[in-house]
Amino acid sequence: MTDDAAAAPTCLARPIPGPADDRAGGGCAAARGADGRPLHAAALRFFWGPMDCGKSTMALQMNYNHARQGRRGLVTTRIDRSLGPQVTTRIGLAHSAIEVTDDLDLRDLVRDATAEGGRVDYLICDEASFYNLDHVEQMAELVDGHDVDVYAFGLATDFRSCLFPAAQRLFELADEVARIQVEVLCWCGREGLLNARVVEGRVVREGAQVVIGDTVDSADVRYQVLCRRHYRSGDLGPRG
Ligand SMILES: [Zn+2]
Repeated sequence: MTDDAAAAPTCLARPIPGPADDRAGGGCAAARGADGRPLHAAALRFFWGPMDCGKSTMALQMNYNHARQGRRGLVTTRIDRSLGPQVTTRIGLAHSAIEVTDDLDLRDLVRDATAEGGRVDYLICDEASFYNLDHVEQMAELVDGHDVDVYAFGLATDFRSCLFPAAQRLFELADEVARIQVEVLCWCGREGLLNARVVEGRVVREGAQVVIGDTVDSADVRYQVLCRRHYRSGDLGPRG
C-alpha cells in the first residue's frame, strides 16, 4: 500500500469550471449565497392535477424512491378518500400518514421527529389543497430554514373551477410547480381538467368548497373530471 492510498479519503469530484462558475475555490464545497446558506439545497415542489390523475400514487412513489436511498421522510395528508390517517390510491396502494389538522404546525412535526433522535430529510404532503395557508408558509420555512425538501400534491381548482387557497399559495411560493402528466379523459375523449361536483345527476356550482365525495357513480355527492367545454356546459355525457 502506498502512502497515497493510506491517506484520508478525498473527494475526487471536481466540477468543470466554466464562465458561469464563480464558486470560490470550486471543489466539493457547496456554493453558498451571501447569507452563508447553500444556494442549491432543499426545494418546495407542488405537483397538481385533477382527481384521478394519480397524485397520491406519485406521492407514494416519491416516498418510496427517497426512502430507498436512505433518506428519512414524513407523509402527511388531509381528507384522504379513506377518511383515515393514511394515503390511499385508486390503484390499491396505501401508506400510513399523519393527518393534518388546522392547528397542526408542520414545523413542530419535524421538530418532534428530530427530537426523538430521527432526522427528517423530506415531507410528502398529499391532498395539500385541503391544508390551510399557514401550512403552506410552514412548508416554505421548513425548506428555507431547515433544509427539508417538501413535495406537495393536490388539486389546483375546486368544483367551481376556482383555485383552492392553499393551491394558490403553493403556485405563488413553490420553487417548482408541475402538472402531473397522467391524462384523465373527459367522457368525450378530450383531456380532463376540471373537477365537477355532481349531485343527483346534475353539475352543481354552489356550495361548500370541500364536500367529501368520490368519483364512483354510486356516491351521493360525486365528482367527475370533465374537459373545460363540458365542465362549462354541465354535460356529463351519455352515462352521466
Ligand atoms: Zn368533454
